[in-house]
Amino acid sequence: MKVLITGGAGFVGSHLSEKLLAQKNKVIVIDNLSTGDMRNIEHIKDDKNFECYADTIMNTKLIKKLVKKCNAIYHLAAAVGVKYIIDNPLESIKTNVAGTEIILEYANKFGKKKTLIASTSEIYGKNMDGRMAFKEDHDRILGTTTIPRWSYSCTKALDEFLALAYWREKKLPVVIARLFNTCGPRQTGRYGMVLPRFVKQALSGRPITVYGDGTQTRCFTYVTDVVGALISLMDCKKAVGEAFNIGNPKSISINELAKKVKKITGSRSKIEHIPYEKAYEKGFEDMKHRQPDITKIKELIGFNPTIGIDEIITRTIEYFKG
Ligand code: UDP
Repeated sequence: MKVLITGGAGFVGSHLSEKLLAQKNKVIVIDNLSTGDMRNIEHIKDDKNFECYADTIMNTKLIKKLVKKCNAIYHLAAAVGVKYIIDNPLESIKTNVAGTEIILEYANKFGKKKTLIASTSEIYGKNMDGRMAFKEDHDRILGTTTIPRWSYSCTKALDEFLALAYWREKKLPVVIARLFNTCGPRQTGRYGMVLPRFVKQALSGRPITVYGDGTQTRCFTYVTDVVGALISLMDCKKAVGEAFNIGNPKSISINELAKKVKKITGSRSKIEHIPYEKAYEKGFEDMKHRQPDITKIKELIGFNPTIGIDEIITRTIEYFKG
């Protein structure tokens, strides 16, 4: 197989590239390095089956050329990270909507290449206050448009609508992967992600910054578990035209996470609670709980995340220690 990975120098994209190369595929990456980083692919850049273009997916001439050359597309390029979205609302909306339009248009035009669209658990919004695990067909409940966080949910939902419309109208084989909080080596805390931030804070002895009261919960999934699921979905004919949650259903509060990071690093950092409006901006809304129901993906491809939170923290610490 010759696969195109948009956003292939990013955190998830680089692990996916690595795995697909190990499976003897040819891998073409395009990444504008906005949140991606060449250092993420340093170790594979000289592989004879690897090609990388530091460019934007808005470059239609290049996309046309790359889509023509490949058999399948993993579309991971997107603006991500709550902090990044809030700080760069315009660019985020444009990349997430126009970029996906271009990928789907060319995937359809040049050979109906199977396309996996990376989506997000954020699309569920604050549904039911998250008191129960999200199933793929649950309703979405979002806040008002003056809160920029919700634009991310809308743009990714629009990506899903677009992909599904291409499937329904044009028979372009698409599959949608809704990623829950994914963690592991190469993830940076620069764009808001909590685990790399806590680990770096703990290692440097700075306060571990818990936003809000810390009782909010999340489910953390190790990146290689996610990558395995992406590849299986791409390879599965029955996945076409469907959306799937990818996540480890085991949940943990952010207070607990802070305590675990402090313990496992052996850090003397203190745990500091910071109000949301100081951490982000006035009017910021967080999701109280967010947990995936993974029945659908389990039944189809046998997805079963194997790496728990303690191991995820340990491996993230090893990465930051170098
Ligand atoms: N968070 C935190 N401290 C930080 C960064 C994030 O307490 O330094 C919280 C954040 O408010 C949220 C959770 O950790 O409740 C997960 O945040 P992240 O941005 O990693 O992902 P989200 O699930 O919000 O998309």
